[in-house]
Amino acid sequence: MSLKNMAMFSVLMAGSIFNGSAGDILTYKVGRCEVSLLVERAAAGNIGILIDAADELKKKYMPSGTYTSQVNAFLIKTPDRAIVVDTGFGSALFDNIRSLGVDPAKVEAVLLTHMHGDHIGGLQKDGKAAFAGATVYLAGQEKDYWLPPNAKYRNDGAAAALAAYGPRVQVFNPGEVTARLQELFPGIIPLAAFGHTPGHTAFLVRSEGQSLLIWGDLVHVMDIQIPVPDISVTYDVDPAAARVTRKKIFDWAAKNKIPVTGMHLASPGIGLLEALPAGGYTFTPVKN
Ligand SMILES: [Zn+2]
Repeated sequence: MSLKNMAMFSVLMAGSIFNGSAGDILTYKVGRCEVSLLVERAAAGNIGILIDAADELKKKYMPSGTYTSQVNAFLIKTPDRAIVVDTGFGSALFDNIRSLGVDPAKVEAVLLTHMHGDHIGGLQKDGKAAFAGATVYLAGQEKDYWLPPNAKYRNDGAAAALAAYGPRVQVFNPGEVTARLQELFPGIIPLAAFGHTPGHTAFLVRSEGQSLLIWGDLVHVMDIQIPVPDISVTYDVDPAAARVTRKKIFDWAAKNKIPVTGMHLASPGIGLLEALPAGGYTFTPVKN
C-alpha cells in the first residue's frame, strides 16, 4: 500500500469523506493507448445497499461492516485523441486531466456508461459544456429511458447536462460480448452491460493485442460482489438483469484474461478476475 493509499485508508477509517485531489491517478498502458483512472471520491460505504446478501456472507467478506465507496472517472489517450469516460462529480476531474497533459477543451469525446449523477456531474459547469470541444456519446437505450419529457423516471439533471452540448450528443447501440465487436473509435468498443440501468454500457479499450475493460457500474462493492457476483445493489434499476450481466461479463473477462476496471472499484482498481472452482471470482490488481 502506498503512502497515499495509507493516508486515504486512515481517512476512511475515521469515517469521513476523502475528496479526490489532483494526483489520485492510476495509469495503465493498453498497447498504444494510455488509460488513467481518476479518483473523484472515496468514502466509507453503507452495506445497506446490498440486496440478498446473507449475514454470514457480509461477515465473511466485509468483517468491518463497511467498504470503500469510491467514484472514478477515466481518461483514455489514444495516439489520435483524448477521450473521457464518465465525469464523476467534476471535483478533481479537471485538475487530474490537466496534470496528464490534456487540456479539457481539447477532449474530443465524452463517453457515458450511464446517466446517474456520479457519472455526469462533470459534464457541465455553470450551465456550459465543461468539455467545450467534445461530443457526448451514450447508448440510445439510456437516453430513451431518462430523457423523453414524458419518461417515467425523467432525469432533469441529465437532460440539462446534455442540453449544454446542444447538437453534439450522439447515441450508439452497444454490442454483446459474444457478438463481433464494433468500434466506436479505433480501439474503443461499447458493450451492452444492461441492468444497472437500461442502457448501461461498458467500454473495451483494445490496442496492439492488449485490452482493458472499463465496466462502469457492474460492481459497487467489490469486497463482496466479486466473490459473490449474485449480489446486486439497490442502485440497480433492474437487480436481476444486473446479476445476469455481471456474471456474463465476469465469465467473459476471466476466460479471455482481460484486465478490468470500473467506476466504483477501490484503488488500486485495475486488475484481473479469476474464476474460483467453487464459484465466484478473485480480483488481483495489475500494473504495467
Ligand atoms: Zn455510479
